[in-house]
Amino acid sequence: MRDKLRLVKPEPVVSRQPTAEQIKQIFAQRLFDFTSPLYLVDKDGRLTWSNLPYRQLGERLALRDGVVELLPINTLLREAEDRDRVVRRDIAVTLDGQTQTLHAHHVPLADKQGKAIGLAGLIAPVDATAKISADLAMAQERFDDIVRLTSDWVWEIDPDLNVTMLSDRITKILGYLPQELAGRPLDCLADSEAGTIALRQRFVPMTPFRDHRFEALTKSGEARLFLLSGVPTFSAATGAHTGFRGTANDITVLVRREHSLILAKEAAEIANRAKSDFLANMSHELRTPLNSIIGFADLLARQVAEMPSHGRANEYAGDIRESANHLLTMINDILDLSKIESGRLHLNEEEISIPMLCDPVLRAFQDRIRGGELSLSSEIPNDLPLVLVDQRLTRQILVNLLSNAVKFTPAGGRITLRAYRQEGSDLVIEIEDNGIGIPEKDIDRVLEPFVQAESHRARRYGGTGLGLALSRRLAELHGGRLSLISQPDYGTKVGLHIPPSRLC
Ligand code: ATP
Ligand code: MG
Repeated sequence: MRDKLRLVKPEPVVSRQPTAEQIKQIFAQRLFDFTSPLYLVDKDGRLTWSNLPYRQLGERLALRDGVVELLPINTLLREAEDRDRVVRRDIAVTLDGQTQTLHAHHVPLADKQGKAIGLAGLIAPVDATAKISADLAMAQERFDDIVRLTSDWVWEIDPDLNVTMLSDRITKILGYLPQELAGRPLDCLADSEAGTIALRQRFVPMTPFRDHRFEALTKSGEARLFLLSGVPTFSAATGAHTGFRGTANDITVLVRREHSLILAKEAAEIANRAKSDFLANMSHELRTPLNSIIGFADLLARQVAEMPSHGRANEYAGDIRESANHLLTMINDILDLSKIESGRLHLNEEEISIPMLCDPVLRAFQDRIRGGELSLSSEIPNDLPLVLVDQRLTRQILVNLLSNAVKFTPAGGRITLRAYRQEGSDLVIEIEDNGIGIPEKDIDRVLEPFVQAESHRARRYGGTGLGLALSRRLAELHGGRLSLISQPDYGTKVGLHIPPSRLC
């Protein structure tokens, strides 16, 4: 029985230790997982293998196939095959809210016969120092651009006001190299003792300052004017005052231009005054003989009328009188305008009701209106306030506006003078006609002296283009204004606005 007992040979124990080959594989796997993102693509550009960091990067970028999706893989395959060398591409990505550049390197893969079978790719780790220096370079570039755009040069000084930094542009502006001034007090640039003192005073309170006028001398001795702005600086570590830094703007040209503008303005004012004086004198000189011409033309007309055969002499005498009258009106207008411009026309103010103001003018026009060819009516409510105005000048405005309405309204037309109070605002005296109107392009222009609407000039309505300009200036002299609404072939509405301050 014992013999029957067969000794069972124990089965060889299977070793749990990995083989050298397995270790190699595990090591390679681990190595791949702790290195940069790696990937393989086949010759058709398909991703065939990738390591863990590559997949993790893909997840952070929310790309299913990882960065290969962002790469022109087919172009890279062609380039790698053609040149048989590593091809690189930079990819800009947004990682953790920041834009970063990934550097992708690609090695061409070939089979034993040397036929291209794909690419092995590697994303180079982002070099932290390289990124910091790139960011620094960018910040410096940005700072330089801003400095160049916002100021002419920048400066930095220590607590003793000695220059520690100057921007390069100082050479172009003042002729000094920055190193020539380094260590010297900033105020050594001042062109006077007073300038030095003023600048030193400026730095006494350790507070920011803006636009301190500083006259400096260039290296060649030319004076230039700057506006200096600065802020005090303090050590980040100790909080101690370390000086000031700031900007300087060259305003030399600007100030010179401003100065010549002031001179030009003064010259223009003198010339304008001379013109006004000349006009005033001339008008006076012209008015005297004109009045005699008018008087004698009148006399002549009357005497000729009594002569038995006077031919057309009577008519001629009438023409002389009419032309002289026209000339006189024009001279008076020019005189008034030049008086207003030189501030020499003063208002003789009186309180007056609107009917009292308008009635004499309306009556004069009723008489003048050509044999009933035009109708003239008025709409003046009883409850309007009194107005404080210069009666003569205000009536002159109304005469000018009514003359225009009569002149530019063909026979059969209607003219209305109406007065009304704008809700809580101006009192308006408005003259409306249904005449030829003014083209839109001329509406603003006709309020200027000597301007007539082009189409009207062609039709020879007469006049010199002064009536509206003068009326507008007279309205403004009262603190009011003229309003003008017009449409060709429909008519014109001109309003004299008297401001609330003149309503009693
Ligand atoms: P003046 O008034 O010096 O005799 P004028 O009447 O031509 O000459 P303004 O009164 O200044 O000059 O008017 C300027 C221009 O405005 C006129 O020539 C005319 O073209 C246009 N205008 C003014 N009022 C009217 C109106 N009621 N209807 C149509 N056009 C007008
Ligand atoms: Mg006129």
